[in-house]
Amino acid sequence: MGIKQGVPAPGMRNRMGPTFDERRGVEYRELRAASLLNRFNARPMPFGWTLNPYRGCEMACKYCFARYTHEFLGENDPVAFERRIYVKLTDRDSLVAELTRARKSALLVALGTATDPYQPAETQFQVTRRVLEAAAKVVGVRLSITTKSTLVRRDLALLRELAAGSEVSVNFSIPTLDQTLARRLEPRAPRPDLRFEAMTALATGGVPTRLFIMPVLPRLTDGEPNLRALLVRAREAGAQIAESNVLFLRRGTRETFFEFLRAEFPELVPEYERLYADSAYARNDYVAEMNARFRRVADAVGMKYRRREDRPVDGKTPRQLSLLW
Ligand code: SF4
Repeated sequence: MGIKQGVPAPGMRNRMGPTFDERRGVEYRELRAASLLNRFNARPMPFGWTLNPYRGCEMACKYCFARYTHEFLGENDPVAFERRIYVKLTDRDSLVAELTRARKSALLVALGTATDPYQPAETQFQVTRRVLEAAAKVVGVRLSITTKSTLVRRDLALLRELAAGSEVSVNFSIPTLDQTLARRLEPRAPRPDLRFEAMTALATGGVPTRLFIMPVLPRLTDGEPNLRALLVRAREAGAQIAESNVLFLRRGTRETFFEFLRAEFPELVPEYERLYADSAYARNDYVAEMNARFRRVADAVGMKYRRREDRPVDGKTPRQLSLLW
């Protein structure tokens, strides 16, 4: 990838600003960005633009695929991803101009493709809030938000306004209803039942919501009872559709996740080594088994379901996609 250990990638060093706050053992730094929206056309995906207001995420999920993104900042210690959060400050006028460009393209803007836009930093810095305020001025813009946080409820009124004049959906990432397991996997994310409460509040308020069962963790969250409980709960909470995706163990995440497994679930290490022996993707036979299981359970409980790779590309024809989670 051409990134030197401990050295910010070319072009990054000039963007990295000073630390402007520190609390709960987390340091917040400025990351200057010419633009918050990034045009995404590297491969066919259901969105054309990505928007991630923060780099790093305090919620510290053991399986977080975005951990590698800190390496571009010269941050190689895995803990830095959770403890040094970079905030992309911007003003509303610039955001309105960027979102107007996105609307012109008619492509979906996906908030939170890498890190959570409603992570704890948002309480203070409100970058995501500014994005929504700007989006409210760009009627017709297409927006999708992915989060594990209940903080999204703060923006219910704005989301309702957006839903009335534009396209918006909120995807709740909830891999398990087991609170004890969730606490071990996602140490600082809100409890799963509270995420479902937030989903209910949004859906009741007229904001389209979806359940993202992502990632599915082999032998930890892939059992039929867990899937059934999630899908039933999502149906009750008013989610329009559920999607799933099996764990992706790219470099940067693989090391953290295996360290977690060795400490917390050592008996599962050989199975994960087998499933992820040759690739960051799980073995095809496991993925096929999981897809069949999901479809079966979703049909049984009456919840609309699709595989992540079957999402329409830019709102057009469903096609096979490689993973980007
Ligand atoms: S909430 Fe999302 S971005 Fe944050 S650590 Fe968890 S998986 Fe990563």
